Amino acid sequence: MPTITLENVSKFYKNDHRIEAAVREVDLTIQQGEFVFVVGSSGSGKSTLLEIISGEVKPERGKVYLNDHDLYRLMRWRRSSATLMFGRVWQEHSLLRKRTVEDNLYTAAILGAVKRKDSRWDVRDRVEKVLGIVGMQGSQKKYPAELTDGEVRRVELARAIINSPPILVLDGITDNLDEDTIWDLFHILTEINRRGTTVIMATRASQFVNIMYRRVVTMVDGRVFGDVERGRYGDVL
Ligand code: ADP
Repeated sequence: MPTITLENVSKFYKNDHRIEAAVREVDLTIQQGEFVFVVGSSGSGKSTLLEIISGEVKPERGKVYLNDHDLYRLMRWRRSSATLMFGRVWQEHSLLRKRTVEDNLYTAAILGAVKRKDSRWDVRDRVEKVLGIVGMQGSQKKYPAELTDGEVRRVELARAIINSPPILVLDGITDNLDEDTIWDLFHILTEINRRGTTVIMATRASQFVNIMYRRVVTMVDGRVFGDVERGRYGDVL
């Protein structure tokens, strides 16, 4: 089960002919099974940090390790194995609009199924099981347009966990949702985390972060400004 380690990581972008650091000199270790909130104002580097952690965006400086393995070397040489370590849900809705819920999940499950040598029936079972975990059982034949925003998030979460990744990386999935829906999502995530999955989540839902009382990493201007074990939104230590 992987520990994630970032050593002196920086990522730069060129904006208006100026080179700016989206993430600067970040050192961070996340153990398997932790629940980590990443908070900070817009533009503070949360998304970039999550993209770096999950092998999507290679930093120009520093190293990212999964246990003792260089993540970006793994991504180059053993891409599908490395990809299967992460379940991801990004800010933008990302279900295939012309496919049913079932097809969306099926497409994601195939990558893992090949590795696990699962049959078509095993995959169907998995789809049913993960829809049950996120409270969306019976929605297999629906299209994304027939779902509320909260339901779309649930299905995206189901898709993210369908291959049982040890690490779940979530960016802004609580944005623009009502309180009841956010509360439901946190219940689901708590349960997923209780089963041993690392959850790393950027969110603006401050009141929920405070109730959850988990590790809070606060980003300011690309740097880790606070990292508190059982923290509240905005805690800096
Ligand atoms: P947050 O998620 O906290 O809003 P981001 O990681 O999205 O922060 O952005 C941090 C900084 O990096 C911002 O100044 C943003 O404009 C810049 N940035 C992020 N991604 C890109 C990109 N793909 N191209 C150019 N600049 C980017």
